Amino acid sequence: MTIAIHHAFLIDGTGDLHDNATVLVRGTKILAAGPSSEVRIPKGAVRIDGRGLSIIPGLIDCHVHLCLGGEPDVVGTLESEQPSYTLLKSATHAKATVEAGFTTVRDVGSRDHSIFTLKQAIDSGLLSGPRIVGAGRAICMIGGHARFIGHEVEGTEQVRRVVAEQIAAGAGVIKIIATGGVLTPGTSPDEAQMTMEELAAAVDAAQQAGKRVAAHAHGAAGMKNAIHAGVRSIEHATLLDDESGNLMKQYGVYMVPTLSALATTAACRPGCGIPESALAKSKSMTKRHQASFKAAHQSGVFIAMGTDAGTPFNYHGENAQELERMVAFGMTPMEAIVASTATAAQLIGIQDSVGTLTKGMEADLVILKGNPLRGIEMLRDRDKIVGVMKAGKFVSGPLAK
Ligand SMILES: [Zn+2]
Repeated sequence: MTIAIHHAFLIDGTGDLHDNATVLVRGTKILAAGPSSEVRIPKGAVRIDGRGLSIIPGLIDCHVHLCLGGEPDVVGTLESEQPSYTLLKSATHAKATVEAGFTTVRDVGSRDHSIFTLKQAIDSGLLSGPRIVGAGRAICMIGGHARFIGHEVEGTEQVRRVVAEQIAAGAGVIKIIATGGVLTPGTSPDEAQMTMEELAAAVDAAQQAGKRVAAHAHGAAGMKNAIHAGVRSIEHATLLDDESGNLMKQYGVYMVPTLSALATTAACRPGCGIPESALAKSKSMTKRHQASFKAAHQSGVFIAMGTDAGTPFNYHGENAQELERMVAFGMTPMEAIVASTATAAQLIGIQDSVGTLTKGMEADLVILKGNPLRGIEMLRDRDKIVGVMKAGKFVSGPLAK
């Protein structure tokens, strides 16, 4: 079957736009996308009148935790759950995510390897959800940040073994923890964690298997260690200084800002259930985080969108709030969309199949009522999402009916 969405406003993910465009979908792929005058609609195609509608590529969130549900005390919640319960919860989060227009996510830390089971269930059509590139458990030092969704390691040999085990279990990316964090009690965001040798061993072992490494880092010392170790992305990059910013630019390391993580935690009042230590840490860093994002954006560091969805009050399905924050802190709406499509796909290494709407790509797209360049907040308005298509099939919106 061929589907033709014609006379629509097209944002193709590359930064280009077309006022009057036609997108042809055949099977799971884009058959053509371009000016309506140049794209011929084949006979028998199902036609969707795109007047008044915009088409954007399926959105990509490079930093989620499907096993966490935005509870105020995510660590305590996870510890009280059976792993099988957590997996069922993850499945509902996956559904909410794809219905919000996010057709791909990178899951950078889950309590066990069941994220790979969830991926399998989605890929086989059993469950509705986004494409998942999963890390499985994060790799951290003994007593380190994220140990509640991590594998604690010591020494380069153990690091290499754990990386190999994760990849054998299905990891599409490796997540390492290079500084303390907000949610893990007793760790400080500005302290570096894991040794330089351990970080480098993780990158080397991952690269040998053709995988990339994402490093959690708030403080500048940990960021620099991770950049020198050869990671592909710095997650959060909260307390960026000139040197770490320059290094990111020099080595082409991506920033995944996750502005929503600190913002949703810091917005909570005492008594909301977020542990006191996490609240204090996030409040103390929010302003610095915004400044780091602005500095990175202005200096031309690659920025790929990520929310840290699953952390306190940072819900799956509300991922588009991150684009609003990126625009509030200096990006144009177009830049925020590119960060959430083409650039995100490049970071993950899947830019040949998703992230842009051009001939031969997977047919992952979102159809919107109105123009998101005039108000990026419309991406969070379900009444404006007419259809979400993943691999040529409408998964949500009125067109899915
Ligand atoms: Zn995270």
